[in-house]
Amino acid sequence: MYVCLRCGYVFTKEEMEEYFNVFKCPRCGYRILRKVRRETPKRVKAI
Ligand SMILES: [Zn+2]
Repeated sequence: MYVCLRCGYVFTKEEMEEYFNVFKCPRCGYRILRKVRRETPKRVKAI
């Protein structure tokens, strides 16, 4: 997961590579991105 520091758009690496083959925001084309972790709750239900 990446977030664009210009427009704040959050996207995955796969999504980015789908639009371009370079490292930039698929929405605005800005090249400064920050890597973010997807927040996944650690709750596992035992069935
Ligand atoms: Zn952007």
